[in-house]
Amino acid sequence: MDGAMPANFSPPGVETQDDDAFLADVRAFLDQALTPDLRLAGRRTLGVHAEIGACRIWYRRLYQRGWIAPAWPAAWGGTGWTPRQRFLFDRECSRNDAPILFATGLRSLGPLLIEMGTRDQRDRYLPAILSGDDLWCQGFSEPGAGSDLAAVTTRAVRDGDDYVVNGSKIWTTGAHFCERMFAIFRTADGEKRQQGLTFLLVDMDTPGITVVPIIEISGEHEFNQVFFDNARVPVANRVGEENDGWSTAKRLMELARSNNTPAALVSRVLLRTTAALAESEAELEPALRRRLAGLWIELEAFERLEYAALGSGRPRKGDVGGTSMLKLIGSELHQKVAELALDIAGPRAAATLAAVGLAGDTVDDGARALAKHFAVRAATIYSGSSETQRNVIAKALIAAR
Ligand SMILES: Cc1cc2nc3c(=O)[nH]c(=O)nc-3n(C[C@H](O)[C@H](O)[C@H](O)COP(=O)(O)OP(=O)(O)OC[C@H]3O[C@@H](n4cnc5c(N)ncnc54)[C@H](O)[C@@H]3O)c2cc1C
Repeated sequence: MDGAMPANFSPPGVETQDDDAFLADVRAFLDQALTPDLRLAGRRTLGVHAEIGACRIWYRRLYQRGWIAPAWPAAWGGTGWTPRQRFLFDRECSRNDAPILFATGLRSLGPLLIEMGTRDQRDRYLPAILSGDDLWCQGFSEPGAGSDLAAVTTRAVRDGDDYVVNGSKIWTTGAHFCERMFAIFRTADGEKRQQGLTFLLVDMDTPGITVVPIIEISGEHEFNQVFFDNARVPVANRVGEENDGWSTAKRLMELARSNNTPAALVSRVLLRTTAALAESEAELEPALRRRLAGLWIELEAFERLEYAALGSGRPRKGDVGGTSMLKLIGSELHQKVAELALDIAGPRAAATLAAVGLAGDTVDDGARALAKHFAVRAATIYSGSSETQRNVIAKALIAAR
């Protein structure tokens, strides 16, 4: 964060008359477009995106309405909304249980290509990201390269107009349904490991690519291992220079971390937990009541931090510390909220899981609270662990002294 708030900053919770017409428009659209099955898919979400069929339907409806990419520049398909309108839109979607999109292309790769892609890459890939025809997965981690990402060994060897790729990527979320992948591969063995990496865009139906599922502790299938066996990737699919993929990947990670766990995602769980309590009319222990109130305060503080940091729609280039802070605070808050939901469910969580499995409709029934708690354990690992974010923030603070 550069410390500057958007010129029209006002507290997100305070509505003005100007918002009325905008909100009425949004609510009318959601009333009509968010059918009960889509709302159910939104409520049932455990991980970072809703069931993929519901995601694709919701994605398409937002695209047809022209509202799929509020944070993109209007010239590239954005809505032209103010930061405040974007915030209000996200909040309405949360309050109405809209499916959480699988949006790596929208939130990370699209903005990266707008900044760093060639004209051909923008023309070819951006329209399909907007329409939802192309979903993108991220191929960074490998069996021997996670927090230490520069240890990547999957090789891309230049052969005429192609790179020939061999090796494997792991923990690749959505590789089993995505049309494309962005990834970094080793193209040289420089003195500094970061200097021999190249950032490529890969079609998932390329001959030589095999996707093998990995099942999570929550029982869901979100990620995979992806094997490359002489898979050919055109040189034209390179973003940035050969052997300078580290710079491209760093910018990609700033974009990804800035919206990895947005406040709107955390607020869904807190809203459901609070609503379920109100419906059950159960008397909550004072200690749990205090925790619930405390988390609402933490969420509001986080909303304001996010609002101030992302006023322009995306983080300032080079703001590694600020984007890591958003990722760290958002993901740890998400875990605290899921943990409270589980503590409120108490023994009911295990009992419901044994009795009905995950057949319930919402995260507020016992079994879903337990499954959600398991799913959210991963939030402080993916997109860089909390320890990694703290290291980045510490380095940024030291460099700024
Ligand atoms: C649900 C989920 C989805 C994911 N999706 C993707 C994806 O789509 N694409 C992709 O590329 N990757 C993905 N990942 C992988 C993720 O980015 C890595 O798991 C993460 O970067 C950590 O790497 P690692 O698992 O190899 O753990 P390691 O790097 O081996 O770390 C193990 C532990 O050591 C700690 N540690 C490591 N180095 C340091 C250090 N220098 N200082 C302090 N502590 C340290 C870590 O914090 C961690 O607690 C996903 C992971 C999960 C859990």
